[in-house]
Amino acid sequence: MNDRSTPFAELAAVAADVAATRSKLAKRDRLAGYLRGLPSTDLGTAVAFFAGRPLRDATAKLGMGWVQQGAALSAAAGVDAEALRAAYLRHSDLGDAAADLLTGRSSGGLSVADVGEAFERMASAAANDKRVALLRGLFARSSAEEARFLGRISSRETRIGLREGLLEEAVATAFDAPLEDVRRAHMLTGDLGEAASLARDGRLQRAALHVGRPVRFMLATPAADAAEVMRRVGDEAWIEDKYDGIRAQLHVSRGGQPRLFSRDLNDVTRSFPEVVAAAAGLSDSVPLVIDGELVPWRAGSVGDFASLQSRLGRVRPSAKLLAEVPVVLVAFDLLHASGRDVLDAPLRERRAALEALHLPDRSGGGILLSRLATATSAAEVDRGFDDARERHNEGLMVKDPGSSYQPGRRGLGWLKLKKALATLDCVVVGVEWGHGKRHGLLSDYTFAIRESDAADSRLLTIGKAYTGLTDAEIAGMTERFASITLQDFGRYRTVVPEVVVEIAFDRIMRSTRHRSGFAMRFPRIVRVRDDKTPEEIDTLPTVEALFAAQASGRILLATGAAGQTERIALDG
Ligand code: AMP
Repeated sequence: MNDRSTPFAELAAVAADVAATRSKLAKRDRLAGYLRGLPSTDLGTAVAFFAGRPLRDATAKLGMGWVQQGAALSAAAGVDAEALRAAYLRHSDLGDAAADLLTGRSSGGLSVADVGEAFERMASAAANDKRVALLRGLFARSSAEEARFLGRISSRETRIGLREGLLEEAVATAFDAPLEDVRRAHMLTGDLGEAASLARDGRLQRAALHVGRPVRFMLATPAADAAEVMRRVGDEAWIEDKYDGIRAQLHVSRGGQPRLFSRDLNDVTRSFPEVVAAAAGLSDSVPLVIDGELVPWRAGSVGDFASLQSRLGRVRPSAKLLAEVPVVLVAFDLLHASGRDVLDAPLRERRAALEALHLPDRSGGGILLSRLATATSAAEVDRGFDDARERHNEGLMVKDPGSSYQPGRRGLGWLKLKKALATLDCVVVGVEWGHGKRHGLLSDYTFAIRESDAADSRLLTIGKAYTGLTDAEIAGMTERFASITLQDFGRYRTVVPEVVVEIAFDRIMRSTRHRSGFAMRFPRIVRVRDDKTPEEIDTLPTVEALFAAQASGRILLATGAAGQTERIALDG
């Protein structure tokens, strides 16, 4: 059926070469040569695979976790759960485990299109059985090398030392296009496969945002204190409350249904009907795309993040829940208005256009504008921070009014200043049974940071804490950890590193106890960050910078009431 598609074995061989090559230029050129030779039917799919994505549509999910992937692999390899677990433990990687278990198999003639279509069918399958059967079918037709790459794509990690930036370079080299144009097309369309096709056809200038398809969110860089903020932004800083909720992108198309996307690019439209209803009132400036934060809203002000928890993950909230925990979208940026992309315009202009929408809030519901002010000194930034905290917000965002909107980038256009000077995002690598009240629950978590930003960065443990979650949440987490256990040592078990937790602490100390070389004083689990992937957790350089800032006395952290951490001294 896919007779024009090329063999998947070729793609897997290129992936193996790239993984085995140290030189970035050689990696780029190997990939570029391969992409250039592909038929147009395979180009988008192959690029998505190299980006570690099984599906072209970045918002679509395979809907398979480690349990289903493991089941598919063990069935294809004809091994039991114990052998599967042992293989995973030898490699800590589903792809390598797959290659190990399928050693000696020869290729069953899969094409790139066969694999792409099977993944599409997994994503749209109604039941887990069906998904497992489809993946098992792919593994069963694979050589060890094909299985290695299949395992990596399906667990969304290519680990071939290929950063997305390098893949963009390979696309530019393959089709002799300017790198900047490829990046821009990727950013706007949200699909490097589409960018590659545009590059191939010499149409990169035509790339545009698709209303209804999420664009990656612009990210912020942490700042240690107000003095650093002023050093970075110069004379005038725009300071905005940092709302403690969940990030969302609102798309309203002409005559179409509004759609809301979460930070991980999931469609969460049905979960927030009150915001969607308010968006329907924006008919004047459609099509448009707004960036903002969903927060709980109570009697005209921001509610507590904890209350939002009950709304998260509810696909269709009941009328009772909607009345109990109403949510609003606090809008702080505009990406597209009246059918025109405005990402490249300076924030100053985007903000003016956002204000010109006359958002339909007022009566305490729907969509409202973020609170924005200017600051010209560190003292004003500090005052702004305290005022934002008074309003129950997390801290401040500091923005450069001249900056463009940079999807997916953690630039200096946005800085974040929050109590989270004392929080780090980590991934859980081990869990332990609790005692006393926590008997029978996996409640003590060992967590790690990443060594660096590199795609194949190692995880380094930094601490252990028992959770501050509610009993019901811990019970849920116990089940989840049981299903992703790698090795069971009785009291302690290692788990697949996929659960991201935000950890608060008082100080960072040097320590030989953990592999990072650091430990935290009084670590506390603030919350599970299901909106973040393990690729997004904090890194060793961040911990080193915090340690240095703390040692130089630029920040001093101390515990306040209810485990809240506050900055109690700043020497500017
Ligand atoms: P963090 O999640 O700690 O890395 O902080 C960055 C996040 O703060 C963003 O992704 C947004 O979800 C959130 N945020 C809250 N208020 C704002 C704001 N005014 N501007 C930008 N981001 C904000």
